[in-house]
Amino acid sequence: MTRGEDKKTHAELTEVDEADLPEGDVLVDVKYSTLNYKDGLAITGMGPVVRSFPMVPGVDFAGVVAESHHEDFKAGDEVILTGWGLGEERWGGYAERARVQGDWLVPLPQGMTLSQSMTIGTAGFTAMLCVMRLEQLGLRPDSGPVLVTGASGGVGSVAVKLLAGRGYQVSAMTGRVEEEAYLKALGASEVINRADYNEPGKPLQKGIWAGAVDTVGGQILANLLASTRQDGIVTACGLAASMDLPTTVAPFILRNVTLAGVESVYAARKLRLEAWKHLARELDAEALERISQTVGLSEVIPAAHDIMAGKVRGRMIVDIAR
Ligand code: NDP
Repeated sequence: MTRGEDKKTHAELTEVDEADLPEGDVLVDVKYSTLNYKDGLAITGMGPVVRSFPMVPGVDFAGVVAESHHEDFKAGDEVILTGWGLGEERWGGYAERARVQGDWLVPLPQGMTLSQSMTIGTAGFTAMLCVMRLEQLGLRPDSGPVLVTGASGGVGSVAVKLLAGRGYQVSAMTGRVEEEAYLKALGASEVINRADYNEPGKPLQKGIWAGAVDTVGGQILANLLASTRQDGIVTACGLAASMDLPTTVAPFILRNVTLAGVESVYAARKLRLEAWKHLARELDAEALERISQTVGLSEVIPAAHDIMAGKVRGRMIVDIAR
């Protein structure tokens, strides 16, 4: 639980009475949650993501329904929840039990385990939304090379795997070039040092990318837009580098580039079900194993500092029972 005291965020592991859980029509025994960048912001207080204190962080969870007053769910059902303000304005997944609205839940896809679903979690779900958006806007594997930024992170790792699996030629941008073997094992055909994109550049540069999944924003996104080729499509979902976007209109008006935002928290249920169906089909157990590591609930607070320092590779699952 995090508390706001003296304008500082204080995080601790503590006992909470079940009667104090927020209102909702489904009670879930939480089995797994995950550590995302946003959870790092919430726990360390490095970004203003928590809207009210005290807050149980954890933007997602997977678990088993304990009690339900919702027509779509019954006790024993395995369910997933990502977003809907969990860990920001509503109590989230870092708890043994959560009471939520059944409308926010999706059933665990067939053939997927609860822990696998949280290897994917919010980050993987967001990566899938980015891929779906790129293709909805017309990107195809033969359109040309695709860049993923923040590639060693949660969203980035899954995006590399999904795009490579769909037959795209994927370049992975990272600040951790020592992760080249990891990124190539996910399917990247080349690894690009993010230092190459860190400095202000010309408004239009050599057109390379037919598409991109950007998780970092800032100068890197500006340079990426400037080096996107005619009719290229870029999805922006993150701000791991910066909230700013120091760009010009040149890529949009001179190369017909599209910049599409992707937001996962309030994604419509139909889109959620479709994305999870694709995720179940396209990510095998071996791939999920490769991108994941597991920590216990008691280890989440130090791990939150690691994710803010850019030290976490791939996805971090939180085992609530550990
Ligand atoms: P991670 O921390 O797992 O990954 C972020 C990656 O960004 C890091 O691994 C690192 O990759 C890169 N990075 C970190 N710091 C910098 C920096 N200063 N400059 C450039 N690159 C940097 O986070 P997630 O994958 O969980 O989330 C990524 C972003 O997407 C976050 O901003 C998050 O808030 C956002 N997000 C948005 C969602 C939405 O609904 N729109 C949903 C989920 C996440 P490398 O070491 O490879 O360079």
